[in-house]
Amino acid sequence: MELEKQIAVVTGASRGIGRAIALELGRGGATVYVNYLKNADAAAAVAAEIDAAGGVGRVVQADVSTLDGVTRLIAEAEEAGGVNILVNNAGITRDGLLLRMTDDQWSDVIDTNLTSTFRLCRAATEGMLRRRRGCIVNLTSISGIMGNAGQANYAAAKAGIIAMSRSLAKEVGRRNIRVNCVAPGFIDTDMTASLPSELIDGVKQMVPMRRLGRAEEVGPIVRFLAGPGASYITGQTFVVDGGLS
Ligand code: NAP
Repeated sequence: MELEKQIAVVTGASRGIGRAIALELGRGGATVYVNYLKNADAAAAVAAEIDAAGGVGRVVQADVSTLDGVTRLIAEAEEAGGVNILVNNAGITRDGLLLRMTDDQWSDVIDTNLTSTFRLCRAATEGMLRRRRGCIVNLTSISGIMGNAGQANYAAAKAGIIAMSRSLAKEVGRRNIRVNCVAPGFIDTDMTASLPSELIDGVKQMVPMRRLGRAEEVGPIVRFLAGPGASYITGQTFVVDGGLS
């Protein structure tokens, strides 16, 4: 298996896209740190599935919107041998039109989606630079590329992740550390389950493939980017949206 002996950290891996990514890396043979915020049972189930699939699953509760949570999460994986693969996936939405958006709606999304990604990249690259190898995959969104009404906060965070990742790729490429983004379109998870059904029906009409994506359709590209087949790919954003954008 191509990811054997690799240590991966996946944030927000108890559910949805993060869960699918953690399982995929586990199937590749990696030791995966399954991070979560509240759903301990779900995270434990993901770790058990990873064990059964040939990898090693470890569960870590940490709020990645806080500096303390980020520091603890990376320290735990570093003590076990060092983070080789970091997947910044944890994310939230607090949708609303900009005119009525509160400061809390804005800062909650920026802190959880963008600042966490910055801090986790900073914490993980320290060890990666020493070891002269590493791979980071940051989850962004087509909202960060196209914009989306009602998501000024989320789109700004996701666009920020793309620009930050490109910049970091230029800083650390010479040390054999690769940084890429994956930008899903509309994927059927708890995040999209809260959207009105008329909106989802409208989205399906706009998607050339006429359906939402499944979380399992995002995991494989992250596994590819983390593996040896992507050894010369960095600073890129890969869209997984059924053709929507
Ligand atoms: P989801 O189903 O809502 O799951 C969110 C995950 O993030 C959960 O595991 C949750 O943990 C965790 N989480 C939330 N806040 C956290 C925090 N402060 N610290 C640690 N973990 C936290 O989301 P999803 O749809 O899978 O989305 C995953 C990523 O893909 C996000 O970055 C999202 O922006 C991006 N994305 C999603 C879509 C989509 O259509 N679904 C499209 C484009 C991009 P608990 O279970 O413990 O609460």
